[in-house]
Amino acid sequence: MESPADSKLETHTKIELDRFHPLFAIPDGDVILAAKGGEVFFRMHSFTLRMTSGFFKTMYTLPQQNTPTPNDVVYTDEDASTLESLLRMICGLPLLPVETYDQLDSLLFAAEKYDMPGPISILRLQAMTPSFLEDPFRLYAAASRHAWDAEKSFSSTRTLAYNIHDLALRRVLQRLSTDALLDIFQLHHSRREGLRARLNEPPFVPGTPTVCPSCNAKIDYHTWRELKYKIILEMDARPLGDTILESGLLEWPESLACWESKCPCGRLLYDKAETLKAIRDCIDELPKSL
Ligand SMILES: [Zn+2]
Repeated sequence: MESPADSKLETHTKIELDRFHPLFAIPDGDVILAAKGGEVFFRMHSFTLRMTSGFFKTMYTLPQQNTPTPNDVVYTDEDASTLESLLRMICGLPLLPVETYDQLDSLLFAAEKYDMPGPISILRLQAMTPSFLEDPFRLYAAASRHAWDAEKSFSSTRTLAYNIHDLALRRVLQRLSTDALLDIFQLHHSRREGLRARLNEPPFVPGTPTVCPSCNAKIDYHTWRELKYKIILEMDARPLGDTILESGLLEWPESLACWESKCPCGRLLYDKAETLKAIRDCIDELPKSL
């Protein structure tokens, strides 16, 4: 991230009036901010900036710069739209809609750079509005970066509908810090491994051959082993587990083979209803969020 100190403070003698943003052309403003490229200018009171930004507070507290003059221009790296959105937030003006994650990220980046807690809190609320909830990995990335615990927990649950090994997710995962990446991998992995361990314990049938209590015939539970394998593969693809419960256990060939398995004496090897309930209980007990 660029250091705020990189923003340049210069003095200009004259800027044409039509280059000022109409909402930020305050005649008695004592500081001018320039958007990236120097095409749009924003004149406002340095008091507002000092009160809402740690960066500007420090800037105007430095001995040599504590009295801004009306011609001071601070050149920023933010585009005009990002700067306008940010200034509207700190001035209490109606907010511009934030509709994409790229906009949200640019605004968060700038608000962080200028140490503006007010805009960060507004953006945090916006991140939980419906348009952003459809991309849980980007919400998770933003929440992790800003230590928004509730949003991190919420978005981590939403990621469970995705295969974290899918190459399509690579770009968004690359945005995560190592800790955030390891955390989300751990959550997904722990659900798969947790379920795998539980399916090898009672009330599920053992992995080793046993004897039918009715006819003493030797029973091998290979159909259950194959279904378990299918379940674990599905947990990798979608650790939420909903597809296992809602369709997999009713429709997969491995499931049907289990429910139809019989001992030579005619006894069904598996109680379908009890097994479905037991698997549902196991999935319900798995960790759901960070
Ligand atoms: Zn039998």
